[in-house]
Amino acid sequence: MSDPRNDDPRRRIARTDALLAHPALVKTAAELGHELVKARVVAAQERARRGEIAPEAVLDDVLASLPRTASSLHPVLNATGVVVHTNLGRAPLSDAAVAAVADAAGSTDVEFDLATGARARRGRGALEALASAVPAAGAVHVVNNNAAALLLCALALAQGREIVISRGELVEIGDGFRIPELLASTGARLREVGTTNRTHRADYAAAIGPDTAFVLKVHPSNFEVRGFTSAVAIGDLTGLGVPVIVDVGSGLLAPHPLLPDEPDVATALHAGAALVTASGDKLLGGPQAGLLFGEASLVERLRRHPSARALRVDKLTLAALEATLRGPTPPVLKALEADAGQLMARAERIAAALTGIDAVAVESAAAVGGGGAPGVELPSAAVSLPESFAAALRARAVVGRVERGRCLLDLRTIPEDRDGDLIEAVRRCT
Ligand SMILES: *Cc1c(COP(=O)(O)O)cnc(C)c1O
Repeated sequence: MSDPRNDDPRRRIARTDALLAHPALVKTAAELGHELVKARVVAAQERARRGEIAPEAVLDDVLASLPRTASSLHPVLNATGVVVHTNLGRAPLSDAAVAAVADAAGSTDVEFDLATGARARRGRGALEALASAVPAAGAVHVVNNNAAALLLCALALAQGREIVISRGELVEIGDGFRIPELLASTGARLREVGTTNRTHRADYAAAIGPDTAFVLKVHPSNFEVRGFTSAVAIGDLTGLGVPVIVDVGSGLLAPHPLLPDEPDVATALHAGAALVTASGDKLLGGPQAGLLFGEASLVERLRRHPSARALRVDKLTLAALEATLRGPTPPVLKALEADAGQLMARAERIAAALTGIDAVAVESAAAVGGGGAPGVELPSAAVSLPESFAAALRARAVVGRVERGRCLLDLRTIPEDRDGDLIEAVRRCT
């Protein structure tokens, strides 16, 4: 009599140590860590026990599930048409910046002079690159992000004093974080002037007094107020006897012809701003960073403030920032500048390659995103698929957008050399 338990397919599931001894898994464990590989093995055995996969398929299941790196972050194809997508990590770095990050990741001369063997100014390459990109700036400084740049301005210049700001510029940045609350958390007092839609020079002038540390102008980068509106230009605020600090948000260093209404660092400085702050990972197309430009004496006060140490950036950021500034056009600007006709030609080629699938090339409207230029529509082209593709593609780390019951893959945010990967991912969903 054979024991019926011998027929139990679960008995054919390979043992954990036997699986871990497979050369491919030994190699991966050496690269990514033993615990990570073991967790995948145990999970695959569990799937086989539940009958979701055949006992013989456990090894293949583990091999298919192994990540490329020891991080759980997945590289994603951004087919949303939102150029600066905060939930997808904002600006994708250029190849030049990625290579610089990899090189700087080990020991590096970030704060060391190889010629003399002495300590050197931290991140001087990135600072020089920023300074030469914005000649109007007397000095530059880099911190963790734009929120940190504003925090540092308030801490170093306005503690126990007043920051004068228009009620039309009390911006919530995202995820519940608000610039006025960020500033108030430093012990600075906010002196709000004007109304939501209209603020005049006289409103600022009336509010300024001996307690005023600076006037702050914040670019409403993620919303638009239209109709009966007015705001005061930077140049009309510089004569009021206090420094004007301008948060331009997006990180455009100079005007961009496609975004005529988007403020930029150089123009704000020429208009008389004492300090300008911006993000590194929006339209500049670089790593997360807060960029500060302006009068040397003020920048020096920020640099020497005790909290500057808590807000400073690491060597990877400095490497990526310098390579973004000195290297070829970063992906964000390529996406912004891509020609709509060429995007449509790509959409048509991709749709034609997807034989047997309901895929059509359609016109689409892409956007800059939370990073700037609210209300600006970028003419674009997309591959339109049945809505059910949206979830199936997300499982393959391709993120499109759903519009009127269709899944759109917008090509403005897909680098052209990834079209093949996009086709492959769609095919695998069928
Ligand atoms: C995005 C943005 C911020 C916040 O920048 P982070 O780099 O995300 O901290 C602040 N101000 C404005 C105007 C912005 O557009």
